[in-house]
Amino acid sequence: MGKSDKNQKSINNHATEMFAMLDHETKNALLTAFEKATSFDDLISNIMIGPCPSCGSTNTIDGEEPPINDNTVGICLSCGSLWCLECNRRLEADKLPCSCWYEDSE
Ligand SMILES: [Zn+2]
Ligand SMILES: [Zn+2]
Repeated sequence: MGKSDKNQKSINNHATEMFAMLDHETKNALLTAFEKATSFDDLISNIMIGPCPSCGSTNTIDGEEPPINDNTVGICLSCGSLWCLECNRRLEADKLPCSCWYEDSE
């Protein structure tokens, strides 16, 4: 009916198209994240940030806020580990950003 309905429809179409382009593994990971999520924020953090590589907790956030100020760094709220969301390597708070930032990408 209104203009917003039309916008909503095109957003949905975009999402469907994007979803169709994903590989099988990514689709499964997204579907799992949808199933496990208890809220929208939880869903986003499940998609953006995997479980902690140290303790396996999904109670993880990105380091966008101070003192890290780097949204490519994952922070485990359970054990306090830091790791790189790009390469999954463990990081130390005083050794940021991750060394993969300086390595040649493909
Ligand atoms: Zn942890
Ligand atoms: Zn890295």
